[in-house]
Amino acid sequence: MKFDFIPSTIYINQQAIYQNIKYFQHLHPQKKILAVVKADAYGHGVHNVCSPALAAGVNGFCVAYVDEALVLRKMGINTLILVLGASLPESVSVAQKEGISLTAPSFNWLQESLKYLDPNCLNRLKVHIALDTGMGRIGFTDLEELRRAINFINQHQQIFELEGLFTHFATADENDVYYQYQETKFKELITQINEPVKYLHCENSAAGLLEPEDNFTNTIRLGIGMYGVSPLNFSSDLATHLHPVMSLKSKISFIKKIKKGSKISYGATYTAPKDEWIATVSIGYADGWLRRLQGFKVLVDGQYCSNVGRITMDQLMIKVPHYYPIGTPVTFLGKDGDQEITATEIADYAQTIPYEIFTCFSKRLPRVAINLIN
Ligand SMILES: *Cc1c(COP(=O)(O)O)cnc(C)c1O
Repeated sequence: MKFDFIPSTIYINQQAIYQNIKYFQHLHPQKKILAVVKADAYGHGVHNVCSPALAAGVNGFCVAYVDEALVLRKMGINTLILVLGASLPESVSVAQKEGISLTAPSFNWLQESLKYLDPNCLNRLKVHIALDTGMGRIGFTDLEELRRAINFINQHQQIFELEGLFTHFATADENDVYYQYQETKFKELITQINEPVKYLHCENSAAGLLEPEDNFTNTIRLGIGMYGVSPLNFSSDLATHLHPVMSLKSKISFIKKIKKGSKISYGATYTAPKDEWIATVSIGYADGWLRRLQGFKVLVDGQYCSNVGRITMDQLMIKVPHYYPIGTPVTFLGKDGDQEITATEIADYAQTIPYEIFTCFSKRLPRVAINLIN
């Protein structure tokens, strides 16, 4: 779907992606980086993100589904691609053929997968065993099951290759005792099984920012930090080196002066306290500008203006200080002059997290790469 006449555009700053990766490499000079590009690169578009990530020297990519991995292979990406979720056993033969690495979430999954794998295929299926150290989502919790799985892989070496071992933190963004507990548990399990693998990984962006000296693992799974947003849920100097990647701009599509007492939008929730200029912008909740962002700010001509009245599916209204011509840019995310609206501010207002704000921006909004890296 390509729309030429939508006035809204998401801009993706490739230079910023490059610099954010370089920053994590600077914090972890010994480690490999897997760029997490699930959900179409957190809504940024894999076509905009993968090439600057490769130019910055990432060692591979993580996605959520085999389908997402296949999109990357079709783009010509021939690095490691790891599927982080529990893939359907029916999908493993495609992964084997395409050299896509899969997560093994349980012993049973390995046994089921074996039924679908092709012993005559030139590729073995590369697996990363997930250890559930406290996230409670997928993975092995028990040392015996883990030992059985490793033996099983070793017994079927012509079909499986154990490429990685990893865990995922539930509270890395808070850096609390539970995080320490998971980290200790991971180290214990890894030490007990004593199985060397090419990729040993536990850090996401938050852990990568908080623990630069830890060299127990050799790989980081870098998601939100690459997109220039602080992964921490408290403010910290550690995040000031990250550059925002995404911005969202639209344009005034209509403008009018309304009389004191006039109402705006569905439910007539806004009543003008005096005569004022109201501009309409063609963007709405169907684009991912959530309905509960009613009353939030935008930037026009370098100044903050408020949204007034309910956000509708495709349009919303803003209060502007005076007349502006149709076509005047309106910034929803990013900078205009000296002012800026960040993904974190949007998320805080909507009582969610930047990840959800990004991934809710719909396919209707074109993504355009800027400050290109090639
Ligand atoms: C999404 C995801 C990541 C990336 O996390 P960020 O907080 O975006 O860095 C890492 N590991 C797993 C298992 C994930 O699902």
